[in-house]
Amino acid sequence: MNILVTGGAGFIGSHTVERLIREGAGQVTIIDSFNDYYNPTIKRENVRAFGSQVKVCEGDLSDSKFVSQVFEEGRFDAVIHLAARAGVRPSIEQPELYIDTNIKGTFHLLEASRRTGTKHFVFASSSSVYGVNKKVPFAETDPILQTISPYAMTKMAGEQMCSNYSHLYGIKTVALRFFTVYGPRQRPDLAISKFTRLIQEGKPIDKFGDGHTARDYTFIHDIVDGIIGALNYRSGPICDIFNLGGSQTVTLNDLIATIEQAVGKKAVINQLPEQPGDVPLTSADVSKAKALIGFKPSTTIAQGVPTFVEWFRDMRSKGIAVC
Ligand code: NAD
Repeated sequence: MNILVTGGAGFIGSHTVERLIREGAGQVTIIDSFNDYYNPTIKRENVRAFGSQVKVCEGDLSDSKFVSQVFEEGRFDAVIHLAARAGVRPSIEQPELYIDTNIKGTFHLLEASRRTGTKHFVFASSSSVYGVNKKVPFAETDPILQTISPYAMTKMAGEQMCSNYSHLYGIKTVALRFFTVYGPRQRPDLAISKFTRLIQEGKPIDKFGDGHTARDYTFIHDIVDGIIGALNYRSGPICDIFNLGGSQTVTLNDLIATIEQAVGKKAVINQLPEQPGDVPLTSADVSKAKALIGFKPSTTIAQGVPTFVEWFRDMRSKGIAVC
């Protein structure tokens, strides 16, 4: 297979590319802008590890000419579309950036796929599309009436675009709703990374709300299993949607305790009120992903967090700031 991975220099993308190389899945090309949402040196370091086995196309998905050119040259069988402006809170500050990358960028990729004959398209969606869903665990069949942040809105739009390109143009699309992914190389803006850095440095951590908000944390290797399962799945005439969650809901208080243990230090807490746009609970029903793409998450938070802390310390020892 000739595969394009967008966002291949990032957290989930670099692990996905590594797995594709290891499994000899075919020729792998990545598109990444190496933007400065977080320290781009981390992304360069991720890509350096691929060696010469991967073709790297540096550019921005919001540039339709650039995207067209990469597809004309690459003629991809499959696209794994992971590049995005991620994060709920910054999307409330700068919605336009999210529209440019997540909506226009996704549109450019689907259009280029249509024009150049790409048959399979895997799209990284998010649990954030469920908004303040009252029913837990969240299932793909739950009606979604309203998203509650620009980020979630762009992911919903991405799913809808995929669906259109499936039934109108015959591209087999799959949307994966990731539930809080963590592990080595994870984005520094995510709680586990921020808390690790601050606890390590003995600085206060901002704790929003009473600590009972809970997330379904998913270890990176489990997510990559789901992505590969989706790549090999032959979807139907509309976009097939799958939840990919670790199936272990962890409260903020328990998360802090797990990080304290892995770091070997107590946290200093700065108590703050709840944030607008934050959802109180995420919890995935993964029965569909288990049945159809063989998804079997197995890493517990107690097993996964120390692997992140180890990577974090390795970056520090190389003088690379995780921020
Ligand atoms: P990441 O920021 O580490 O990776 C995204 C990559 O996309 C980065 O390397 C970035 O440089 C690249 N990128 C961003 N804008 C671009 C543009 N306009 N053109 C080209 N490249 C661009 O994030 P991640 O955590 O690996 O997330 C990967 C995907 O999974 C995203 O679509 C994100 O929305 C989705 N997701 C992640 C999580 C999570 O917990 N990490 C949860 C739900 C969904």
